[in-house]
Amino acid sequence: MTYFDRRDGVLCAEGVPLSAIAEAVGTPVHVYSAAALRDAARRFTAALSILPRTRTAFAVKANPNSAVLHLLAGCCFGADIVSGGEMRRALGAGIAASDIVFSGVGKTDRELADALDAGIGQFNLELEEEGRVLAALAQARGKRAVAVLRVNPDVDGGTHAKISTGRRENKFGVAIADAPAMYDRLSRLDGLDLVGVALHIGSQLHDLAPLEAAYERIGSLVIDLRARGHGITRVDLGGGLGIPYRVDDVVPTLDAYAAMVAKVTRDWDVDLIFEPGRVVAGLAGVLMTRVIWVKPGADRPFVIVDAAMNDLARPVLYDAFHRFEAVAPDGERMVANIAGPICESGDVFALARDIDRVRRGDLAVFHATGAYGAAMASSYNCRPLSPQVLVDGDQFEIVADRFLPEEFAA
Ligand code: PLP
Repeated sequence: MTYFDRRDGVLCAEGVPLSAIAEAVGTPVHVYSAAALRDAARRFTAALSILPRTRTAFAVKANPNSAVLHLLAGCCFGADIVSGGEMRRALGAGIAASDIVFSGVGKTDRELADALDAGIGQFNLELEEEGRVLAALAQARGKRAVAVLRVNPDVDGGTHAKISTGRRENKFGVAIADAPAMYDRLSRLDGLDLVGVALHIGSQLHDLAPLEAAYERIGSLVIDLRARGHGITRVDLGGGLGIPYRVDDVVPTLDAYAAMVAKVTRDWDVDLIFEPGRVVAGLAGVLMTRVIWVKPGADRPFVIVDAAMNDLARPVLYDAFHRFEAVAPDGERMVANIAGPICESGDVFALARDIDRVRRGDLAVFHATGAYGAAMASSYNCRPLSPQVLVDGDQFEIVADRFLPEEFAA
């Protein structure tokens, strides 16, 4: 089911015509559907209900908007964070500190200290030294930090190289072969309660086989660690599930994922933590834009829109595909390149794409921008950060204002 449908020829977000949002807020603008977010969260939770003990921490990096986090907190999601800024966003949105997992390969001492002071529920250690620093900071506060050791299982997730995190050459986690001895040493530290292990092999995964292989390796590690006398009570299985960016993309269903997890983990007897991002927020957002020009090009026209790579970096970063659809199409088609106004040849959303015919002034959307869309925005070319709007039924509100540093403003 999609929450961005056409009514009387006009594309709507739930019950709100996108043209009304453009009129009220301007473009470019990120638009989220509250119902889509709730539905995705509910479906994720329902699929996992076949597993005995689970907790879900939304990966804040996918969409750190406070209203989105607040909504997901209402769906019993905690948060997976990777910076002090994300921690403050999550806490500010009403997520309990105890429901927050602190991931991230380069947490500063200050971030670790602030997280301890806030009472963050789980630290995912990326290296032995981090465990020692965290233990010392905790001891100095008369506390014990609850932590798991992130392991690099050396499994290729089969996704884009820049969002692949579980191969041995990636910067994340500790080599699985080194994990047992490291776990022995870390578990002896006062100030640290080492309760298990974590992994995350990449994002936009479209095949369950690599995840299954990685989970099986972690299962063997759990057996090994228990044999060494460690009481393993928790395994953090990360995130990574892909979404269909193209209409005909095939991605694993949540039920298939849950069944695979149930099969692999049936004898683990641990709490399972999940860190989904994209699969919750991705399809719940669109980036609406207005056509500035239809400019003749060497082989085909350039549709120059007012959104750019600073609003949606995925195409230039990962050659990512985002469906483009006119808000009020006239039924004609055209083949065009779609580009933004930024002074880089890379600021292109699509090449030689068969799209709805658009003219100067028309509104259109890029679909599936709810994850890693506004989250990755920048003010490159002194462009404002685009506003964000949350639609709920036939109402909408601005949940992030257009932001332009004062010195850029006219
Ligand atoms: N957990 C960790 C440690 C991550 O690095 C990421 C994203 O890369 C996620 C969870 C969320 O991944 P996804 O949005 O693919 O579910």
